[in-house]
Amino acid sequence: MDIISGKLMLKRGRQKSVVNRHPWIFSGSIERVAGQPEPGDIVDVMGRDGRSLARAYFNPHSQIRARILTWDADEAAEGSVDDAFWRRRLERAIAGRAALALEPATTAYRLVNGEADGLPGLIVDKYGDYLVVQCLTLGIDRRKAQLVGLLADLLHPAGIVERSDVDVRAKEGLTEFKGLVWGEMPPSDLVVLENGIQFGVNLLGGHKTGLYLDQRVNRTAVCQPHFVANKEILNVFAYTGGFALYAAASGAGPIINVDSSIGALEQAEKNVALNGWLDGGSPQRPSDEYIAGDAFEVLRYYRDEGRQFDMVILDPPKFAHSRRDVERATRGYKDLNWLALRLLRPGGLLATFSCSGRVSADLFQKVVFGAAVDAGRDAQIMQHLGQSPDHPILLTFPESAYLKGLLCRVW
Ligand code: SAH
Repeated sequence: MDIISGKLMLKRGRQKSVVNRHPWIFSGSIERVAGQPEPGDIVDVMGRDGRSLARAYFNPHSQIRARILTWDADEAAEGSVDDAFWRRRLERAIAGRAALALEPATTAYRLVNGEADGLPGLIVDKYGDYLVVQCLTLGIDRRKAQLVGLLADLLHPAGIVERSDVDVRAKEGLTEFKGLVWGEMPPSDLVVLENGIQFGVNLLGGHKTGLYLDQRVNRTAVCQPHFVANKEILNVFAYTGGFALYAAASGAGPIINVDSSIGALEQAEKNVALNGWLDGGSPQRPSDEYIAGDAFEVLRYYRDEGRQFDMVILDPPKFAHSRRDVERATRGYKDLNWLALRLLRPGGLLATFSCSGRVSADLFQKVVFGAAVDAGRDAQIMQHLGQSPDHPILLTFPESAYLKGLLCRVW
């Protein structure tokens, strides 16, 4: 049980964000820390009138000095955030996913999405019988054993892997870690399903927790048969073939997959075979290509060659890691989209994404607009795209919206 061991006194004018249920308290908002809370301890967040507004976990080593766990005084009765509290939060997150009715066609999805699920700093993804946890903050890291125990109890997985090999942990004073934390090790060739499509995934070796699960709804939206059947597709930043596999399932023509990771492309090719679309399987694949290289260089090469495609998919990694990066990132997005627009046949489709939280949907749209003007092409937005619903966005925490995309018809 966690006893409240300190109080955070907020500065004048800094109460509003707490009252509006934003879960982060920055160092600059705190006038004084009363008591001697240890890193990760539970603290009371005090308003100017001396009343408790919320309870948070504390980290004196982070610019985000505290992350709020509850605004409900009853929930943390007798000054504690106990095992029952964490269990309730996990149960709520799990119930939210069960209500999406993803199983059995989809067996890989996010169960806990950090702040947006009232569990700041904790990510839990499900991959078939296995779970992958990511502890992004010290407050969560300190409670890892407790949370892993609760997850095992609630979900009965075969094993739980930790993928806390992310650089944001440095901001919390933590080092990186990955390894098995409960039960048995997942096979390195684990197979999971997304909408009935098979993906081989290595939970300890893959990017993020294994797959880019946030793109699931967009793969469906973009790769519908009427968009992709018999079309020539350039899938840029292909990873293990997420969009390519959906397009193949919808009867796409030849797909050219581009990624800087050879390992990811090898898995992409294996995934096509896994689904039985090779050697006489149905739908039979025309010859796909897997090109290991820098996306910008490959796009320039095709431009110089005068190559044309019916669809270009751009799903780059995060370009902006901090506010300072935003300008450079927007230049990167503009170049990329400008190049892609020039490769499209009239009436072709551009599916373009940004997963940089710092680049808003509005800004991203302006960047693509600029790219279309410079490329001299008319682009019509057919659909605004966002993250899958198992990655919910908390209304009071706009930072939880990070993935945005546009599906455009280009003339
Ligand atoms: N579309 C994928 C996810 C893409 S994630 C899916 O649906 O699963 C971004 C990918 O970009 C990663 O696989 C990474 O290896 C790749 N990448 C990063 N920088 C790159 C670059 N400069 N050129 C090509 N690929 C790059």
